[in-house]
Amino acid sequence: MPESIPESLQTKIEERLRYYEDLGIRLFYRDREPSLVSPENSSPAIPQASSVSIPEESSLPKAKAKVAVPVVAASVPRIAPVIAPSGPSLFEVVEKVQDDSLLKIREDLGECTRCKLHKGRNKLVFGDGSPKAQLVFVGEGPGADEDAQGLPFVGRAGKLLTQMIEAMGLQRKDAYICNVVKCRPPENRTPEPDEVKTCSPYLLRQIDVINPKVIVCLGAVAAKTLLETTRGISQYRGEWQEWRGRKLLATYHPAYLLRNPPAKADVWKDLQKVMAELGLQLPKKKS
Ligand code: SF4
Repeated sequence: MPESIPESLQTKIEERLRYYEDLGIRLFYRDREPSLVSPENSSPAIPQASSVSIPEESSLPKAKAKVAVPVVAASVPRIAPVIAPSGPSLFEVVEKVQDDSLLKIREDLGECTRCKLHKGRNKLVFGDGSPKAQLVFVGEGPGADEDAQGLPFVGRAGKLLTQMIEAMGLQRKDAYICNVVKCRPPENRTPEPDEVKTCSPYLLRQIDVINPKVIVCLGAVAAKTLLETTRGISQYRGEWQEWRGRKLLATYHPAYLLRNPPAKADVWKDLQKVMAELGLQLPKKKS
């Protein structure tokens, strides 16, 4: 590193290092240029978390209305669902709505009282982000901050999610973020099966309308709901799943990462798989 670094640049580098520290990445090597896509090999070369170079702020891709066009889509192996749903699928009973839209879904929900979670809610948290996003994050349900603001992932866990999205070279508004249940469970408890069953058809409609290329389930509730499985998330975390003609990957919830910082490195590896699928490259450091 040159001896005299402008103070503004030093501040940016420090901020960027804090980003990566929050993701559990603490080792950096300056003599390696990680590449997500190997031209000789159709399989994407996913760099290890410890070999990630430090991107400078100015080298991050500019925010786009839509996630970059994927270039390695066909190279990621397709994997059969981890669990074939037993009995009728929760989602098979969801009626297809003609000319559906996010606005129509929100209007259909209205001041929803379909399940008991409405009793303790301040604001219904519908979702946030680009309606044309190629990347959708699905969490569990609103917490206190979300319930107060009516927006998903705005508390401490939400800040970490935003940092993770930015570390992928995107801005939060490039993705779409929503939850399995749209009203805060009391004391932040796990949503109960009847609540999930009542609310998740609206989630399904949201995903169908947005039609993303990749869905990332944040935590066990989202993963178990969409995959209709009772298996623990650690059994298939980070593995691509086929979901209604789209690709789905389950990873840990940011709230779990706040309690278990070492798991951030696993999540970062998962997000690099998502980046490869979407044709996103790690920002390259300037020589
Ligand atoms: S959680 Fe969903 S189904 Fe239950 S009241 Fe809220 S919006 Fe309605």
